Amino acid sequence: MTIVKAEPESLPIFAQHSLTPELHPPRFRHVRCAICGADRYERVGRPRVEVRFRSALMTRTVSIVKCKRCGFFYAQPMPLWDLEALQKIYGQDYFPEMSTWWQAEKTTRNPRRRLDRLEYHARCPIRTFLEVGCGLGHGMRAALQRGWAVYGQEVSSTFADAVKSALGIEVFLGFLEEAKYPDQYFDAIYLDSVLEHLPNPLDMLRELRRILSPQGVLFITVTNQAALVSRVSGTVSKALCLGTSPVLSPFAYPYHLVGFSGQTLRIACDRVGFEVKELVIRAGTQEWRKLALPELTGKALITTMLSQPLYLLGERLGQGIALEAVLGHAEHPG
Ligand SMILES: [Zn+2]
Repeated sequence: MTIVKAEPESLPIFAQHSLTPELHPPRFRHVRCAICGADRYERVGRPRVEVRFRSALMTRTVSIVKCKRCGFFYAQPMPLWDLEALQKIYGQDYFPEMSTWWQAEKTTRNPRRRLDRLEYHARCPIRTFLEVGCGLGHGMRAALQRGWAVYGQEVSSTFADAVKSALGIEVFLGFLEEAKYPDQYFDAIYLDSVLEHLPNPLDMLRELRRILSPQGVLFITVTNQAALVSRVSGTVSKALCLGTSPVLSPFAYPYHLVGFSGQTLRIACDRVGFEVKELVIRAGTQEWRKLALPELTGKALITTMLSQPLYLLGERLGQGIALEAVLGHAEHPG
């Protein structure tokens, strides 16, 4: 079979809400806080649920809670999806249709800027690169352009197939630990919006530390749940007795299962022996520019217009919606 490398603009853009998958309910498990191990929490509200997954069972069963000790947010009880269900959750309709501006930002400008930061902090030349939960492989593409040996891991066969046809790279299909990469194998590892999708992100951080070289660097970006926009919408939700959780957004359940702040991300890194070399809070100021115009109608349009000043102010106050961190092995793991 001949694999043709596609140009960046030929990356697939998946249509939204094209089908509603039949999802069997997951197994649920009562969990302790994945970050600090405490079992004391306050209920924040019921999760907002993506339209195509709305079923009474899922909304009745799960609450979003906040750990009373460290402030970590998580679903309780925690749904545990198997690989078959994940294939349906992360299918063709996961990525919404993007605006031209956001597509260029997401596929090209962001990965380039982030890989620059990895090169800046690495204590060795980067030769081997892994994108975990690679989606459509935007990090992989940028890494290929730097001449690195590029690997990818993904649970969704839809995305793995898309990366193979676009970049000619065989992505490992399955959970990260199943790939059994050798100890300290990678000089750079890249996770764009992955940790918040996992029932226990600490398990993955431990595996990442095992496979990252001692001189290597790890890039992570996650949603900041301490963002101004989340705090204000929490107050509004409480005042209006809506009962819905303002956190684990902007993506809703069942995608996001846990939620970090800068503080809980630092605690998590400490616990597994990662040093935070850089932690930046970005704004997400241009939310309205992310979606193609036809997507922004009715309620979504009004919500976007109302929340826009909060994104802008949040950026000014260091309370933006996106956390970006560069990590390395801690010299003296605590
Ligand atoms: Zn905790």
